[in-house]
Amino acid sequence: MSRAAQALAEEIGAVNDILCAVALLQWDNRTMMPAGGAQTRGNQIATLKGIARERILSDATRRATDDLLAETEGRADTDLDRRAALTVQAAIDHHRRLDAALLRRQAELGPVAGAAWATARETSDFAVFLPFLDESVALARESAAAIGHDGHPYSAMVALYEPGETAASIRRFFAKLRAGILPILDEARGRERDDVVHRRFPAEAQRALCRDLAELTGYDFGRGRLDTAVHPFEISFTRNDVRITTRYREEFLPGALFGALHEAGHGLYEQNIADAFTRTVFATDLILLYAVGGTSFGAHESQSRLWENHVGRSLAFWQKNMGRLRAHVPGRLDDVSPERFTCAVNHVEPGFIRVEADELTYDLHIMLRTEIEAALLDGSLAPRDVPSAWNEAVRRDLGLEVPDDRWGCLQDVHWSSGYFGSFPTYTVGNAMAAQLMEALKARDAGLDASLAEGDYDRLRAHLTDAVCRHGRSRTRDELLRDATGEALSAEPYLRYLRAKFSGATA
Ligand code: ZN
Repeated sequence: MSRAAQALAEEIGAVNDILCAVALLQWDNRTMMPAGGAQTRGNQIATLKGIARERILSDATRRATDDLLAETEGRADTDLDRRAALTVQAAIDHHRRLDAALLRRQAELGPVAGAAWATARETSDFAVFLPFLDESVALARESAAAIGHDGHPYSAMVALYEPGETAASIRRFFAKLRAGILPILDEARGRERDDVVHRRFPAEAQRALCRDLAELTGYDFGRGRLDTAVHPFEISFTRNDVRITTRYREEFLPGALFGALHEAGHGLYEQNIADAFTRTVFATDLILLYAVGGTSFGAHESQSRLWENHVGRSLAFWQKNMGRLRAHVPGRLDDVSPERFTCAVNHVEPGFIRVEADELTYDLHIMLRTEIEAALLDGSLAPRDVPSAWNEAVRRDLGLEVPDDRWGCLQDVHWSSGYFGSFPTYTVGNAMAAQLMEALKARDAGLDASLAEGDYDRLRAHLTDAVCRHGRSRTRDELLRDATGEALSAEPYLRYLRAKFSGATA
């Protein structure tokens, strides 16, 4: 390693250490911390993030970056040293554009907007949240202007989470998906629902089952753990400590079960990043100040959705693992065949709540949020008109009448926390999962047979090779081009949904 590369690695290693400490505080915040700790924990996290930002903007980091840029001049931008230098340069540029006063206003708004949102949601009173949404949108528009964009402020926000995407590219992609999904939904809705998953399953048994299933995917408990959280998530402090969570509702088994597979999928991504990338720019999001090895939010979601849906909700999985499931809940599912169970966990029914949506309607929930937040950012929709825009979109796409705002535009925490632009990444992840799976099956004729035998090592090895090990050293579309021959595409996902939910096959 050259002296410049070494100097830059030291600075970024320290930034990664600080951000891993932030992540640990956040993990604690969401699993163990008593409610009384919220205010001071917020201070601690803000202080540490501020230190990380200062370190990125320090003379030492800038000098090392300039030296490495000069040294690697003329090399291809796939050269890892060149790419590291360019990535840090982009981060320095980004943080310079956002002045400290704007960041402070955002940080101060967060907790009060969050509290107002919680009250508004509880009482289904949008008026309580409106002044904070106004302020939140105004700050997002200010940030977008400071960051710079292609003419649509939403582009600046989307690119924070899904680099390479813009307001226009997402709109085109979603239009294609929407046109494909609506006719499949017409066919799939109205089928009878099976209440087998609503039998009572003790939380203790569910916990053991979730651990068992996570282990089955190859998630390494020697470098991980499974805890309980109200809103399940995965978080890592380097590849050597990657934690997942789920929640247990005794009257609804799929929540915990598929939640655990989903988070295990996220966990596998982080655990399987090349060891050499630990504490480097390729395992750190220097823009969002987040210690993560996944190359984009959508790429991350592709891994979780792949394990959750393509593996966990498949008939082959339950033909192999129904006995394992029955053993965890003795006497409760003995009368249920793998076919019936698979059918029950793939039931399609439009509903109001995104996080409870089935695989087919989920993306429609994402699209309506994306449409609304893009319109908020470009000013074509006023915050006070969000409820009517929301209810209209739900009527149009899902054929439902929203009874009140708690079941509508007040259900998600994102906008109260100032997150605009992250919603599309869920659907990007769904599409990317299908694209990867289709290509892997085409390339490896034995993959289906190995999954039918309950061997998940082969799939994990493919995913590690195609996605995980690269960390942030390659973009999402670079990974996809190598693995599938093309950049992100809607077609494989629509083929998958059609095969699963159209006609008699479902
Ligand atoms: Zn996820």
